[in-house]
Amino acid sequence: MAILVLGGAGYIGSHTVDRLIEKGYDVAVVDNLVTGHRKSVNDKARFYQGDVRDTDFMNNVFDEEDIEGVIHFAAFSIVPESMKDPLKYFDNNTAGMVKLLEVMAKHDVKKIVFSSTAATYGEPKQIPIKETDPQVPTNPYGESKLAMEKIMHWSDVAYGIKFVALRYFNVAGAKPDGSIGEDHHPETHLVPIILQVAAGEREKLQIFGDDYPTDDGTNVRDYVHVVDLADAHILALEYLKEGKDSNAFNLGSSTGFSNKQMLDAAREVTGKEIPAEMAPRRAGDPSTLVAASDKARKVLGWDPQFDDVKEIIKTAWNWKQQHPQGYDDQGGKA
Ligand code: NAD
Ligand code: UDP
Repeated sequence: MAILVLGGAGYIGSHTVDRLIEKGYDVAVVDNLVTGHRKSVNDKARFYQGDVRDTDFMNNVFDEEDIEGVIHFAAFSIVPESMKDPLKYFDNNTAGMVKLLEVMAKHDVKKIVFSSTAATYGEPKQIPIKETDPQVPTNPYGESKLAMEKIMHWSDVAYGIKFVALRYFNVAGAKPDGSIGEDHHPETHLVPIILQVAAGEREKLQIFGDDYPTDDGTNVRDYVHVVDLADAHILALEYLKEGKDSNAFNLGSSTGFSNKQMLDAAREVTGKEIPAEMAPRRAGDPSTLVAASDKARKVLGWDPQFDDVKEIIKTAWNWKQQHPQGYDDQGGKA
């Protein structure tokens, strides 16, 4: 039986497809390539180009494939864009989930692993953030993902579709051999932007805010390597295959790094100067986001291999040096 990966041509999806194949799973991918890259998808996966919201297309894929479970990455995820155009996010993300669950219910597919996010918590009341903490998003992106979690909950109650929601913190890095990596247009994430400066593609890094209540005044985030994240999806799938109940897990390292510390680490890894300047705060940035991730370790048996941000940055730098133009396929420009 096959695992269907929705959004499998994206950054995290392509690494998960790759790990599934390495571990011997039979994999099918659906992606409309709105931000993804065909070239990032492992050759051993069957690829269907289309939209999750296109019910006819999705019914055909479910007819064609003998699907055991779904891993759902297909979504938009740029916070400032969601502030400007919330309906784009509720349409693609939230309405996409409704369509998907309808097709799953119709084809009696009862397992889904879902990309949720720390953005569902909003401004945390305590650090580290626990799965049971209040979820009060501060932007439409986080709201669209929280709604998706709730829709899955009620679809479990009504149709018995079991889910695992994985709430990622900050994802970075690339497959260590440098064959796949992160290639977003526009790029908004800290690590790839720092490496664009290191590679001379950008003049300087702007650090958004140095007056936060943290040790050095810059935001603190919790970084997890993309391959460790991919492995958590496979563990979540196995958890559901064992017949266990729907659940939600944070995925982070439980350690915080400030934006200045990330810059220093990147300077050390790349040996480049990486010019930087302080800039005003970015709207909607919480001061500190660090996950309590002991639940994933205990319940799923998750054992992340990359516990050092320098090692994470090193793999992203390796990808960047091997692919200065990214996938160079004109793809991924939403
Ligand atoms: P990405 O943009 O690289 O990947 C998303 C993929 O989904 C792309 O290949 C895109 O073409 C595809 N897609 C989008 N809408 C689709 C649709 N309607 N039908 C079919 N395909 C569609 O993003 P990513 O960084 O890999 O993130 C993957 C998931 O993880 C997202 O759901 C995001 O919300 C979540 N997430 C990411 C991060 C992060 O730091 N990157 C953090 C928290 C959560
Ligand atoms: N950041 C920054 N300059 C940039 C991009 C990001 O200072 O050019 C900061 C951002 O304000 C946040 C941290 O880096 O404090 C991580 O941002 P990212 O967008 O990578 O992830 P987020 O935490 O928003 O999910």
